[in-house]
Amino acid sequence: KANRMFHPENTVVDVCGQKIGGKKIAMIAGPCSVENEEQIKLVAKEVKKYGGGFLRGGAFKPRTSPYSFQGLKYEGLDLLNKAKKETGLPIVTEIMSPCDIPKFVECADIIQVGARNMQNFDLLKELGKTNKPILLKRGLSATIEELLMSAEYIMAGGNENVILCERGIRTFETYTRNTLDLSIIPAIKKLSHLPVVVDPSHATGKWWMVESLSKAAIAVGADGLIIEVHNDPKNALCDGAQSIKPEVFADLMGELKIISNAV
Ligand code: PEP
Ligand code: MN
Repeated sequence: KANRMFHPENTVVDVCGQKIGGKKIAMIAGPCSVENEEQIKLVAKEVKKYGGGFLRGGAFKPRTSPYSFQGLKYEGLDLLNKAKKETGLPIVTEIMSPCDIPKFVECADIIQVGARNMQNFDLLKELGKTNKPILLKRGLSATIEELLMSAEYIMAGGNENVILCERGIRTFETYTRNTLDLSIIPAIKKLSHLPVVVDPSHATGKWWMVESLSKAAIAVGADGLIIEVHNDPKNALCDGAQSIKPEVFADLMGELKIISNAV
C-alpha cells in the first residue's frame, strides 16, 4: 500500500484541515517534552506567532536512562490540549504503548511513533486500526525498506494516513548526535507516495545546525520539518542542546521563506 507502483499520486494527509504532502511545507515545532502549563502555552504561542502550523511536545518520553525525566504522561496530553485551545495548533505527540491508543485518539491530532518503536509491530498493527494520522519516525539504524515496511504495517490495517520522518541514523560519526540521511528523501519519493518530513533537531543534536539542515531538507523535497523549540533551552528537561529559542525559530522561518514560497 505504501508502494508508488500501485498508487502513483502523492498522498496528502489532512490534519484538522491542514494538509501534509501538498503544496505547502508543514512546519511542526515545539519542545521535546511538555514540562508544565506555562512552558507549553508560551512555546505554542511563539510557534503560532512565527508561522508554525503544528505543535509538537512529548508527554511520554522514550529516555535512554530510566532515571531521566519520563514525561508528564496523561497530564502532558491535557496540557497540550490547553495549548491547542489557545493557539488552534494541532498536536503532534509520541505514543509508547498500545494500551494508550484510545487516549491518544482523543487527545492527539497526529500520533508520533518514535524511532525506538519503529518496529514495535504490535503498536503499528493497533495504530492501523485507527484513522488518526501517524508520524512514523525512522529507526536509529533502519533501512529505507524497513521504514517503508513499518508504514505498510499501519496501512495494512486500513489506516493510510502515514507521514514518514527522517530523523538521522547511527553512523561512525559522533560529532553530531546522528547523521542526517538526506538521500532518503528522493529515495522515498521514488519508492512511495507517502509524505516525508525531516527532523534536523534529533538528527544533529545541535541547535545551531538546525537552520542549515532545514534548508537542505526543503531543497531535496521534504514535505515538512519537525523542529524542537524551547523558551529556555539551557534548563530544558530534555534535549536542550538541540532546541532553538523562539527568536531563532522566527529567523529560521524567515530564511526558509527566502528559499521556498511553499513555507
Ligand atoms: C522526539 O521526537 O522527541 C523523539 C524522541 O524523537 P526520536 O524518536 O526520533 O528519537
Ligand atoms: Mn527530543
